Amino acid sequence: MKQERIIVIGSNGQIGTELVTELRGIYGGGNVVATDIKEAPEEIRETGPFEFSNVLDKDNLKQIIEKYKPTQIYLLAALLSAVGEQKPKRAWELNMDGLINVLDFAIDYGISKVYWPSSIAVFGPNSPQFNTPQHCVMDPNTVYGISKLAGERWCEYYHLKYGLDVRSLRYPGLIGWKSAPGGGTTDYAVHIFHEALQNGKYECFLSENTELPMMHMSDAIKATIGIMDAPSEQVKIRSSYNVGAMSFTPKTLTAEINKHLPDFRISYKDNDPRQAIANSWPKSIDDSVARKDWGWKPEFDLAGLTKNMLDNLSVTTK
Ligand code: NAD
Repeated sequence: MKQERIIVIGSNGQIGTELVTELRGIYGGGNVVATDIKEAPEEIRETGPFEFSNVLDKDNLKQIIEKYKPTQIYLLAALLSAVGEQKPKRAWELNMDGLINVLDFAIDYGISKVYWPSSIAVFGPNSPQFNTPQHCVMDPNTVYGISKLAGERWCEYYHLKYGLDVRSLRYPGLIGWKSAPGGGTTDYAVHIFHEALQNGKYECFLSENTELPMMHMSDAIKATIGIMDAPSEQVKIRSSYNVGAMSFTPKTLTAEINKHLPDFRISYKDNDPRQAIANSWPKSIDDSVARKDWGWKPEFDLAGLTKNMLDNLSVTTK
């Protein structure tokens, strides 16, 4: 296998902490450089190089690229959906300028592959809500969704115009037990497990029948490495691929948790601003194109995810 040198930008968030660990297992700790504006957790600091770096600071980014000479960059730094609505200009600046900086450096320094995640937030109220297809009307009405849709267009543009090998997935809500979520609309589906184990109750910020597409974090990591490893000719879509695993509502998730913790109770908060965001997103995703092109297949369904989260968190929260 060709030896890769990888820089992960935004390494200390929900996805980065798990992705860096996985990449270091594959390519060796010293070959995967974690970078972020905030301090790294122990598992990142102690298993390979870490650098403080702001993706918006081009001089600093350039120095890091010249120092480590990466063959691949994973760009994870972004402002997520709920926080983005509170700071729309800041979200646009980070999500757009950060991406363009990385795409430009990738061309200038001949970096062979770039990974950048998109989101189901690229869809909007006029997109089909059930089994939302790969190609359809896209009219996102959050600044996060607008920035992700524009980012997808930029990725495809750099591929078509400059031949850059850039790859992307539209993640649904991601649920894992190893790291905390960073301010998105689907965060409830992580918090609920912690609260169920610690307090036996949870007040949910989305209403009971709000259905959203979700995925276990280990499937998201598998999809990410899967698309990055796929032969170039199999990656036919250079904007971003739909990937799905399951869909559920707070009510159906609670019923599943109750199979393990019968006394757990959920209540619902009214008028949370995240409800409007959730209402504009798909309820389920058609990922048949990713399955056909490069063999995407998730492992976890709702029952498997619930058991996995409770089993692991009941050990770590003891
Ligand atoms: P997160 O908020 O948990 O982590 C983002 C990390 O980026 C943080 O550690 C933060 O400190 C860092 N960061 C912020 N500004 C930075 C800057 N200027 N320079 C360098 N680093 C900076 O986010 P996440 O959940 O890990 O998401 C990573 C990517 O995946 C984002 O692009 C997000 O939009 C996308 N995504 C996530 C989900 C999800 O459910 N987590 C779903 C869809 C898409």
